[in-house]
Amino acid sequence: MDLSTLAYTVGYALAFNARLKISAVGIATPICTSCKRPIPPTEKAIKFTCPNCGKVTIWRCYRCRKLSVPYKCVNCGFEGP
Ligand SMILES: [Zn+2]
Ligand SMILES: [Zn+2]
Repeated sequence: MDLSTLAYTVGYALAFNARLKISAVGIATPICTSCKRPIPPTEKAIKFTCPNCGKVTIWRCYRCRKLSVPYKCVNCGFEGP
């Protein structure tokens, strides 16, 4: 394997990884923005769009709501309680 093949392979793996994350946030199992834990469908989690940029859907699991764990927007870096 030469260097360009290696770079291609790593790049592909990263892109694949990013797609996986997007699909994980999208439909089946949302990921809590605060603790990065998958939120089971039965849990009383809330979702809302970022109050600053409005482009990112923020999920907060029941535990993070209860403990008031801060969240951080992945798009604009806005942090909130
Ligand atoms: Zn959480
Ligand atoms: Zn934002």
